[in-house]
Amino acid sequence: MIRRRIFEPEHEMFRNTVRKWAEAEVYPRSEEFRRDGMVGRDVWASAGKQGFLAMYADPVYGGLGLDDFRFDMVLTEELAARENGLYIPLHNRIVGPYIHRFGTDAQKRRYLPGVVSGDTILAIAMTEPDIGSDLASMRTRAEDRGDHWLLNGSKTYISNGILAGLVIVAARTGTGSHDIGLFLVPDGTAGFTRGRRLEKIGLKSQDTAELHFDNVKLPKDAVLGEPAGGFGMMMQNLAEERLVGSNQFIAHAQRAFDITLDYIRERKAFGQAIGTFQNSRFQMAALKTRIDAGWAFVDHCAQEHLEGALTADMAAQAKLLCSEIEGEVVDACLQLHGGAGFMEEYEIGRMYCAARVSRIYAGTSEIMKEIIGRKLGLGDRR
Ligand SMILES: Cc1cc2nc3c(=O)[nH]c(=O)nc-3n(C[C@H](O)[C@H](O)[C@H](O)COP(=O)(O)OP(=O)(O)OC[C@H]3O[C@@H](n4cnc5c(N)ncnc54)[C@H](O)[C@@H]3O)c2cc1C
Repeated sequence: MIRRRIFEPEHEMFRNTVRKWAEAEVYPRSEEFRRDGMVGRDVWASAGKQGFLAMYADPVYGGLGLDDFRFDMVLTEELAARENGLYIPLHNRIVGPYIHRFGTDAQKRRYLPGVVSGDTILAIAMTEPDIGSDLASMRTRAEDRGDHWLLNGSKTYISNGILAGLVIVAARTGTGSHDIGLFLVPDGTAGFTRGRRLEKIGLKSQDTAELHFDNVKLPKDAVLGEPAGGFGMMMQNLAEERLVGSNQFIAHAQRAFDITLDYIRERKAFGQAIGTFQNSRFQMAALKTRIDAGWAFVDHCAQEHLEGALTADMAAQAKLLCSEIEGEVVDACLQLHGGAGFMEEYEIGRMYCAARVSRIYAGTSEIMKEIIGRKLGLGDRR
């Protein structure tokens, strides 16, 4: 792997702490999580005790007041090093920042202590059965009924959907296509129910669910920021979300590469290690080059983000590049494993299935190309 200039010694110390914790408390339980289709709540509580959750939260809400994206990069990379389903990056950097950045003091006081301790696991619900890429067409609606909001609709494919103690729900609040609000809906709210835990072809230990909202009465202060300002908030946070994803995808690619290198050094065919065939050598050389280029771009984007300069189109480029590198790497690495790669018990087979979603969620590759292409001035002028 290339030298990661972005990290300081304190980030590497943190990496050691996270690795030891994950080796003791997370990785050994991966089969259990896979069987249950979700990660045990006790693991979330343990992560909270370690101070790994919402580190940016102010100490008055129980956090460390440490808003340094690099600590979350380290967490993301270490958790990506083995299949486990613990989706802390979603909790910490995809959902949590909505409350941290746009929440009122009262909202932060109510929710952040649980977010920090791991008692309140977070989810965000944008996608609906009929819309995903085209968020402006969502149907879930929140009506202003004077003294309360009335929320109706259904969401699907929601990560942490079963475990979540608090869901941020995107809902239409007006007639304009961008009149969307973000609502804080805690577990136990009357009319909020969960549907199926969805069976996926990969990411078996991560829970993904349908959520239903049937005449859910919410207090007026359940909305984050302006009632019609949700679209803007989502667009603001999506750049960070896509960078988090890119970091995770390239870390997966690195893991697939590393285990394959070990495998092809040991496995023999025609009297020699399969790694010594020219094809294997060339494949691995090309993959290493792609992965290192991916790391370099992720670190560049992270530096831009630290300086407040990460743009939506650059984050889209990172997501496009890293998800495609991950896809190429797991495919080539599975091939180098031969039949073993197709067996569920082999990590590379599981990684192959899991990687397929990286080009789909948090915006598909096609949508990333739209964002990048439009920035080039090539928008549809019809
Ligand atoms: C495992 C998993 C976890 C997820 N977690 C969450 C979550 O926590 N919260 C949440 O809200 N959502 C979540 N999602 C949903 C995810 O973000 C959407 O699936 C994704 O944005 C794509 O939307 P869609 O599935 O409706 O596909 P569609 O929008 O129906 O797209 C279908 C195809 O059409 C293409 N397409 C669509 N529009 C265009 C266009 N303008 N130009 C060219 N091609 C286009 C797409 O690229 C795709 O290939 C998750 C999904 C999965 C699979």
